[in-house]
Amino acid sequence: MRRRLIDFSRYSSIKIGSVLEVGVIEEKIALPKDSIIIGSANNLLVSDNPPPLFLLGKVFGGIMIDGERLKIGAATKSAQIDSFCRRENIGGFEYLSKLPGTLGGLIAMNAGMKEDEIFNPLLEVETAKGTLKKEEIPHGYRYAQIDDIIYGATFEIKRGYDYAKREMFDKMRYNQPKQPSAGSFFKNPPGDFAGRLIESVGLKGMRSGDAAWSEVHANFLVNLGNASFADAMNLVKEAKRRVFEEHGIMLENEVQVL
Ligand SMILES: Cc1cc2nc3c(=O)[nH]c(=O)nc-3n(C[C@H](O)[C@H](O)[C@H](O)COP(=O)(O)OP(=O)(O)OC[C@H]3O[C@@H](n4cnc5c(N)ncnc54)[C@H](O)[C@@H]3O)c2cc1C
Repeated sequence: MRRRLIDFSRYSSIKIGSVLEVGVIEEKIALPKDSIIIGSANNLLVSDNPPPLFLLGKVFGGIMIDGERLKIGAATKSAQIDSFCRRENIGGFEYLSKLPGTLGGLIAMNAGMKEDEIFNPLLEVETAKGTLKKEEIPHGYRYAQIDDIIYGATFEIKRGYDYAKREMFDKMRYNQPKQPSAGSFFKNPPGDFAGRLIESVGLKGMRSGDAAWSEVHANFLVNLGNASFADAMNLVKEAKRRVFEEHGIMLENEVQVL
C-alpha cells in the first residue's frame, strides 16, 4: 500500500499535530484492526502518537446521478457536492457550502446544520463488508455507528436547490471564530448548549499556550498560532472537570481525539 507523509499542523483544520505516515487506500479493503480511517481532518485533534491512520485515495471521489438517485464517493469533498447539487438543481445539501469535510467524514459524524443533516436524504452506505441500508445503521445527533470504512453512499434526489437556505447558512458563519478550529468541540448536551456551559464556568477566552476557548463562541477550541496537542487537551480536561463539578454534566467530545 502507498504511504503518504502528512503534516497535521497543515492538513488538519485546527492546525495541530506533527508529520505522520498515513496509508492511502486505493482498493476496497476492511479497516485493519485498531486503526483509524480519516477524511480531511476537519473534526480531528491528532496527537503525535495516534493509532495507525489511513485515508481514501482519489479513486473514491466522484459524484453521479443514477436515475432518481445520487451516488457519491466517500473521498468527495463537501464543496464539490454542493456545487454539483447547485448545477443539477438538487436540494437538501445546501449546508455543505459551509461545512468542510469529505463524504466519509460527513456520514461517520452525521454532520449537519440546523435541521439538515447528511442522514436525511441518505438511502444506503457502501462499506467493504457490503451495502448497509440507512435503517440498519444506528445513528443520531453527530453520530453514526458504522465501524468500517465508508466507500460511498446513495441518496434520494429532491429537486430544487434552495438559495435562501444557502444564504441562511452563510449568515450563521458570520459570527463564528475565524482562527483555525475543528468546529464545535463538544456535543450539545440534551436541552443545553456546550458553549453556554463553558462560558458559565468562566472558561470563555481561557488560554493554554496558544490554544484557547474562543472569545467569540466558547465551544470553539481555537489555535491562536502554534498550539500543541497538550495545550488543547489541557483546555478540554479543564472544561470537562469544571462543567461536571458545577453542573453535574459530563461534556462529550464531538471532535475525535486520536
Ligand atoms: C470551521 C468548522 C465548522 C464546522 N461546523 C460544523 C457544523 O456546523 N456541523 C457539523 O456537523 N460539523 C461541523 N464541523 C465538523 C466537520 O466539518 C464535520 O465533522 C465533517 O463531517 C468532517 O469531515 P472530514 O472528512 O474532515 O472527517 P475527519 O475529521 O477526517 O474525520 C471525522 C470522523 O469521520 C471518520 N471518517 C472519515 N472518513 C471516513 C470514512 N471514509 N469511513 C469511515 N469513517 C470515516 C473518522 O474516523 C472520524 O471519526 C465543522 C468543522 C470546522 C473546521
